[in-house]
Amino acid sequence: MDRSKLYRRFRTLLIANRGEIACRVIRTARAMGLRTVAVYSEADRDAMHVALADEAVLLGPARARDSYLNVERLIEAARKTGAEAVHPGYGFLSENAEFARACFDAGLVFVGPTAGMMTAMGSKSGSKELMEKAGVPLVPGYHGEAQDDATLSKAAEKIGFPILVKASAGGGGRGMRIVRSADELGAAIVSAKREAKAAFGDDRMLIEKYVDNPRHIEVQVIGDSHGNLLSLFERECTLQRRHQKVIEEAPSPTLNAAQRETVCAAARKAAGAVNYVGAGTIEFVSDGKDVFFIEMNTRLQVEHPVTELITGIDLVEWQLRVAFGEALPLKQNEIKLNGHAVEARVYAENPTKNFMPSVGRISTWRLPTETGGLRIDAGYREGDTVSPYYDAMLAKMIAWAPTRDVAIERLNRGLEESDVRGIVTNIPFLSALMTHPKLRTNAIDTGFIERELAVLTQAAPAPGELELCAAVAAVINEEQQTARAQANSPWQTFGWQPVGRRQRNFAFRVGHGAEQKITLNYGSGLSTLVIGERELAFAIASREGGFHLTLDGVKSSVAAVIDGHELYLRTRNGRFDLHWVDPFGGESEEHVGEDKIAAPLPGTVVAVLAEEGATLEKGAPILTLEVMKMEQTLRAPYAGLLKSIKCKVGDIVQEGIELAVVEPAGE
Ligand code: ADP
Ligand code: ADP
Ligand code: MG
Repeated sequence: MDRSKLYRRFRTLLIANRGEIACRVIRTARAMGLRTVAVYSEADRDAMHVALADEAVLLGPARARDSYLNVERLIEAARKTGAEAVHPGYGFLSENAEFARACFDAGLVFVGPTAGMMTAMGSKSGSKELMEKAGVPLVPGYHGEAQDDATLSKAAEKIGFPILVKASAGGGGRGMRIVRSADELGAAIVSAKREAKAAFGDDRMLIEKYVDNPRHIEVQVIGDSHGNLLSLFERECTLQRRHQKVIEEAPSPTLNAAQRETVCAAARKAAGAVNYVGAGTIEFVSDGKDVFFIEMNTRLQVEHPVTELITGIDLVEWQLRVAFGEALPLKQNEIKLNGHAVEARVYAENPTKNFMPSVGRISTWRLPTETGGLRIDAGYREGDTVSPYYDAMLAKMIAWAPTRDVAIERLNRGLEESDVRGIVTNIPFLSALMTHPKLRTNAIDTGFIERELAVLTQAAPAPGELELCAAVAAVINEEQQTARAQANSPWQTFGWQPVGRRQRNFAFRVGHGAEQKITLNYGSGLSTLVIGERELAFAIASREGGFHLTLDGVKSSVAAVIDGHELYLRTRNGRFDLHWVDPFGGESEEHVGEDKIAAPLPGTVVAVLAEEGATLEKGAPILTLEVMKMEQTLRAPYAGLLKSIKCKVGDIVQEGIELAVVEPAGE
């Protein structure tokens, strides 16, 4: 086919995606002088990518299949806005050959490979057949057409257990099962097929030798429509959870220069086998010695920024230039590796609750500024809502430095200085990963996170002296701010010290733990704080996002967020959530509000486990909800009487809706 029909200059680009990647693509397209068109679902009316684009088109209801996966609507959106090209991002339709074809048929440039290349490389089985012919090393396995039980089990026996059963159409780690012995095989195939059918509408399976606790190494490639093909070094993405990447880095700390050249050459050979055009990634697993091809992703990947930071290349710019029909601007020997980059994926999820996604309004979104080697690709802002309909990735934080150690330190510092409230995020978990000694020494494999989960999700430390003092400071600082805000108050010019009061008592607790008491003494000069026998000189100075706290002459910086009586503090010792026990009562009322038995996320009531009028112990199960395919049991927050149950089995309930009322005992 004449490639000028496929790849040619355009001025308006539609981005068929949402979230972080849509924002990322818009940024570069804009810088190249293109007009950008966003698309959105009803749930995303106020989303960041919509705000960033020059124009935006509503696709339909929240569900992805009614909006971001609706090919007809997308083509229609391009027609309506005069868009001449489509960037698919990653996920959604990015590896869908029919979508690429539909774009072509509608006269649009698809920013990516041709539908033919996608079909050839899109199926894991098909691509492995191609790679076998091209002489790219494969994991021993079966990737034939026949799918009957006898063929599959014979193949498994021949390869030798443990094996991996994998959906040929798979992605995102789904449709994959490890099988350690012959008697597990039948059941594994059935369940992997069921998952693959539901996720990809295609249940064909392949079998691979399972490389025990391997490393994941992948090579970024990019080809143009003039026959040039480059490799842009490798990334290592060994830190995974359930076959999904969590931390990625470039270059791989595992390979030496010779191994690097070998794997990059293998990747060029792989992409060359289909005369690949566009950005793509060749993925390998490694047993520490050799690398074996597992799949090709015919799109931009989540972790592409680490490659950008070590090569100085803007991959989206290059994708767009290739789509314009231009030749790649550099030759292979002009691609230079500089320093080291590490990326962490920030998700709205709760690592201590089996990584359950967290949805709701982002009440606080404070990330560090992008200086000193730090880059942040975000898809959300303060005030945005994380909905349950899409991937829970909020942002990526990426750090570059001349060496791996410093890049890790910079990334960790960036994570530690991030305060996101309103939803639960994996930021503390990512920090725990970045500070793990085995990450520093690169003594990791793909099973590392699962094995170290207990360490990585350790509960926050108990608040100590510094945190109690910081809690008082947070309350005082807040009162001072409020007083300042209330203009014309003559009182405020004299500071926060209420006249005539010499002492003020505070009590704080963590969860339902014991109250910890602390007293503030107002002196004529310095104030002091008293905890038990200890007395500390105390001063505060407000700053953006918190305050400086000086205790006995030692000054430290504290980040604080106050929501009513709930305090969030970040001190040098970590993150702390404290409840300020109100000295003027009102606690019991608040107790009910705080411990409201409510749906944490939109869900379905699947079981009611207690009866109205029953006397419940603290922690007694009341009902079970199914939320985002996971069951969650709501329990009595304290001992008491189950006054009412406000739902029944089968009800679909919205987030925050009160589902039962427990009256605390003894009131
Ligand atoms: P893979 O894990 O398939 O090798 P990537 O590492 O590039 O590839 O990850 C792609 C994943 O990103 C998808 O499986 C999906 O979970 C997630 N994703 C897809 N679309 C979006 C989006 N718009 N915003 C955030 N995350 C997304
Ligand atoms: P997906 O399309 O879901 O990204 P992949 O084939 O890329 O599927 O596999 C995802 C992850 O699963 C890999 O990054 C690797 O950690 C693990 N994996 C895949 N194949 C093997 C294998 N043969 N042995 C061990 N681990 C594997
Ligand atoms: Mg993969």
